[in-house]
Amino acid sequence: MIDVVQQCNLRCLYCHPGKVWLNEHLPVAVLAKTFAAIEEFGPLEVVLSGGEILMHPEFGELLDAASVIRRPGLTVITNATLVDDEVVANLRRSTVSRICVSVDGVEGSSHASARGRNLRQVMHGLRLLRESGKEMTVISVAHKGNYQEIVSLSRLLTNEGLADQHHICAPVYSGTARQHYARLRLDRDDFYTIQRAVDEARGELLQAGLFLTFNSFWPATGEIPAAQTGRTLTLQQLAEQQKDSNIHIRPSGDVRIPVLGWGRETVGGSTIGNVRRGDPAALLVEANRSLRAGGLRQLRREDEAVHKFQLRTADDTETNSLLDSEADPLDLADLIPIAPLSSHPIMRNSVCLAELQALVARFHEEPAKIRVAKHATGIIMIFQRDRSFVTLVQPAEWKKLNEWFDETATNAGKRVSRPSQS
Ligand code: SF4
Repeated sequence: MIDVVQQCNLRCLYCHPGKVWLNEHLPVAVLAKTFAAIEEFGPLEVVLSGGEILMHPEFGELLDAASVIRRPGLTVITNATLVDDEVVANLRRSTVSRICVSVDGVEGSSHASARGRNLRQVMHGLRLLRESGKEMTVISVAHKGNYQEIVSLSRLLTNEGLADQHHICAPVYSGTARQHYARLRLDRDDFYTIQRAVDEARGELLQAGLFLTFNSFWPATGEIPAAQTGRTLTLQQLAEQQKDSNIHIRPSGDVRIPVLGWGRETVGGSTIGNVRRGDPAALLVEANRSLRAGGLRQLRREDEAVHKFQLRTADDTETNSLLDSEADPLDLADLIPIAPLSSHPIMRNSVCLAELQALVARFHEEPAKIRVAKHATGIIMIFQRDRSFVTLVQPAEWKKLNEWFDETATNAGKRVSRPSQS
């Protein structure tokens, strides 16, 4: 995740990046060096965010510099209020694979309750961005003021063909959300209400072309939703759960390893260097070394849920002292080692025939959109670059899948080489 600019034209109540607006941005010269290092380093996905990315003074040049990113998926997040024809043209010719737009409701009042009165502008921007031809994801923050209506938005997106995916998440106790959390906070029952509505609508919407998910259900409750069969999940879902998979670069240039934290806040220091002053390539190697060395520790999921979503208690004193303390995190909380990817709860699901058939078909149709990477634990990650879906398979399952690739290609009379790892 790279926050390229620390400024925004909106003031959403739950904003993480904007606790302090500094009018700071990462210059394109620094980003160009960072992008080159990232391509070499080869993560699955690069997410460019802000603040509002369209307030970066060199947005077009930034996209040009990002064209070196070929192996990872490249995602841009925007509030869509500043979109015009030039922005759409820049995005259309860019190597961006996915655009995420934030929308919080179908009614002006539900959207405005935390994001301000801009729904008309946002929907106009979303319609324009749809013309870029990129995969479109709408992200909604479901909070106390809008959560009952959030799946109505999924239906509107489907009916108007405005998005390919709709990701719902809960507000996180971070940044400006800290001041407003009493208004926003969902209780445990609300998480179940949202997940039930998602489960009920999911199949029908998927048939109509929209993938719907509630990303915060597992982190808050520890339960994999019943509808989540198979081994495919969004990279965002995986990153929420697998704390050794994220590197975060802030507009100041600080490179952070956010193992202990959520939103844009961490418990204790997490900065390992700065891309403005140091070599981005060396910093990425250093971050990877720290993440793989096995010494990092995280909060237990249930402890993190209490703080991150203020579950169980509406008293934020304990969370504030945790986030604001300068003390060693080990002195502040019970920390546990990060569990390896091979013991991720989704690995208990069987690989589902339908998901493999879909992957094989997609690889034959659009091989450039599929990337295969081997995790340090031996798990094979099959990543769909534009959709940001990752399917996790064991090495033996991967072997079988390869045979299937060959078989289906032969049956279809096609000469398609197997997907290779990169
Ligand atoms: S949440 Fe996004 S759109 Fe809202 S103020 Fe923060 S950066 Fe801007």
